[in-house]
Amino acid sequence: MRTKSILTEAKQIERAVTLINLGARLQVLESETDLSYERLLRLYKEVSGKSPSKGQLPFSTDWFMSWQPNIHATLFMNIHEYLNKVAEMDEIDTVIKAYQLYQEHTQAQNLEPLLSVTRAWRLVKFVDNGMLTLTKCSKCQGHFVTHPHEVAKHYVCGLCNPPARAGKGKAAGGLQMH
Ligand SMILES: [Zn+2]
Repeated sequence: MRTKSILTEAKQIERAVTLINLGARLQVLESETDLSYERLLRLYKEVSGKSPSKGQLPFSTDWFMSWQPNIHATLFMNIHEYLNKVAEMDEIDTVIKAYQLYQEHTQAQNLEPLLSVTRAWRLVKFVDNGMLTLTKCSKCQGHFVTHPHEVAKHYVCGLCNPPARAGKGKAAGGLQMH
């Protein structure tokens, strides 16, 4: 686990603004910066021009298991794992950078980014605490987001085995993993 580095206030504000611009929920900012709630609330309103949405964060891993979200979560997670290996960054900066690359990737393919930055942030937490993991597909060898009990030898991913109603060629709207 990489610890948070001691950040100057300016750096913390910059990080918060980046997250707000990416559409992060206020709870993400509270968790990832040391700025006060009041400060963050003001910042959120200034940057996004609206009040933050209330209500709980998505706590369930189910969303990541449905077909299209799983492909998007997998794409994000592969970028995240790669950055984790090659770049020395604070955890949240890795999430931010990976999410920006995920957005670029979906934009380049004219796809709606189904994965919000808040969900991406949750996903990394789920993987960190072992509630989700990456499992290698026995057919295409890609690493996909799954529950940890998945047996790798028999696991076939959603791209190799799409649901009947989704044409295989149009898997996840043509999203390519490699
Ligand atoms: Zn596969």
